[in-house]
Amino acid sequence: MRLASFFISTLKEAPAEAELISHKLMLRAGLIRRLGSGLYTWMPLGLKVLRKVESVVREEMDASGALELLMPAIQPAELWRETGRWDVFGPQMLRIKDRHQRDFCFGPTHEEVITDIARREIRSYRQLPLTFYQIQTKFRDEIRPRFGVMRAREFVMKDAYSFHAGSDSLEKTYAAMHEAYCRIFSRLGVGFRAVTADTGPMGGSGSHEFHVLADSGEDAIAFCPDSEYAANVEMAEALPPAGPRGAAGSVMRKVETVGKKTCEEVAAFLSLPVEQTIKTLAVVANGEVYLLLLRGDHHLNETKVRKIPFLCDFRLANEEEIRAKTGCLPGYIGPAGLTLPVIADRTVAAMNDFVCGANEENYHLVNANFGRDMKEPDHVFDIRNVIPGDPSPDGGGKLDICRGIEVGHIFQLHTKYSEAMKAVYLDESGQSRPMEMGCYGIGVSRIVAAAVEQNHDAGGIIFPEAMAPFQVVIIPIGLKKNTEVRIEAESIYAALCDAGIDVLLDDRDDRPGVMFADMELIGIPHRIVIGERSLKQGIIEYQGRRDEKAQAIPYPSQDIVGF
Ligand code: ATP
Ligand code: MG
Ligand code: MG
Ligand code: MG
Repeated sequence: MRLASFFISTLKEAPAEAELISHKLMLRAGLIRRLGSGLYTWMPLGLKVLRKVESVVREEMDASGALELLMPAIQPAELWRETGRWDVFGPQMLRIKDRHQRDFCFGPTHEEVITDIARREIRSYRQLPLTFYQIQTKFRDEIRPRFGVMRAREFVMKDAYSFHAGSDSLEKTYAAMHEAYCRIFSRLGVGFRAVTADTGPMGGSGSHEFHVLADSGEDAIAFCPDSEYAANVEMAEALPPAGPRGAAGSVMRKVETVGKKTCEEVAAFLSLPVEQTIKTLAVVANGEVYLLLLRGDHHLNETKVRKIPFLCDFRLANEEEIRAKTGCLPGYIGPAGLTLPVIADRTVAAMNDFVCGANEENYHLVNANFGRDMKEPDHVFDIRNVIPGDPSPDGGGKLDICRGIEVGHIFQLHTKYSEAMKAVYLDESGQSRPMEMGCYGIGVSRIVAAAVEQNHDAGGIIFPEAMAPFQVVIIPIGLKKNTEVRIEAESIYAALCDAGIDVLLDDRDDRPGVMFADMELIGIPHRIVIGERSLKQGIIEYQGRRDEKAQAIPYPSQDIVGF
């Protein structure tokens, strides 16, 4: 590709709304442009990257035996009513009416649609197992779309679904998908970790997430450096609401009154230095209000940090009041779950105030009696309450906590959907049975942001080879003035093109500094610079994107491509 006939649009400064480095760099490099909240255009340069990610995903899916299809993005409500998810999916689902006032949604996921296919098309155990996948646009009306394509509303997902006669077959495919995912993320050149996870609203049992490790990740992962153990701390949300530290799902006894609790007392209770307990907030879960503590050692201003419910069961009368007092966003308060709001600026004083308020009439705190109710049962392991240094549940050593970006998620759904939608097959004895199912998602567009989050420097993006928009850029200096430079640049360009290398010729004839800065920003892994002076010395310059200095290579060389 010649740059003069391509299109790039780089920015010196990132727009102010971009917080995360990947979001900033993707905007500055002109990979994406914002249309509205959580809606992004993939510009030609960015689309090249997205397509490269897609093609690695597609190759590995094909190699695993999965068959590609393409389902409609718009789905009729009737299917979702069959599984009951029309009512339970909540505001993440974008609902649409057609001209006849019939209900539809823009698919946030496709279990219902694929199960409908399966029940119509699959009759016999002889046709099984079967795995279908698609790479397609999803829409989820995220409560806080942010970080660009990392948490967008419209995004590209690879979703695969497998159908089986029996759970042994499901387990085999699940393991094969696990391996395919490891190959995909290795090929894409991102550092990742597979962790055990909660199945969430997908249902079923048995689930792993794949996380790209990055300090800015929204998820906290407890892992044991000395064993295989790793789990998403979000797993917590599948468990019953926690009691005090360590008491998973324990029922607390009520006590009459409780005094005001300061952060100092909380710190003492949890045996933490007080500066680690500076932020607390109230959350309603399953109809009960919990006062949670976010610890200072893990990104205080992020969600899902460390959830240490303390002083369990603060029954407050009024949700509005909690909202007002804590600053929790409306969507985060409610019986739906334990998702935590971002409360970046709760001060000790504000929270003490709140605890005070909770102590007034009709806002009684119940249940708090440290010595008696809140002793830590040492035999109960609750991932929610893990702190670094706790023993790993597999006995393999001590746990540590790191942060990750969820880029893939695989589930064993078993018969949750097939039973609800009567997707059955005839087994060897002619008996009708519900199919076992698995589902397997990859956040294709999120991977790009996650890779940038993991691979960048002061100059900009450092794309891993497999997803770089171009593999090599040739930068001729003084192209128009200097015939020799032009001829050699064209000849190297032709040689690389012939070798099937995705090469960009920066033929803008701009100032060298501008061309270097642009190519660094957009993260092309290899750069060749051709200048008049160096040509005279019989060399050209090569620099890898991570190299500190350029190196001279003899030119004309035997094998420019091989180099
Ligand atoms: P998250 O926990 O980040 O909200 P999820 O668990 O809701 O993700 P899944 O239902 O497991 O997502 O979907 C499969 C994959 O789709 C995820 O692993 C993630 O990589 C990607 N994904 C989900 N939501 C988004 C989004 N809003 N923007 C971009 N990618 C997303
Ligand atoms: Mg989600
Ligand atoms: Mg998740
Ligand atoms: Mg998930």
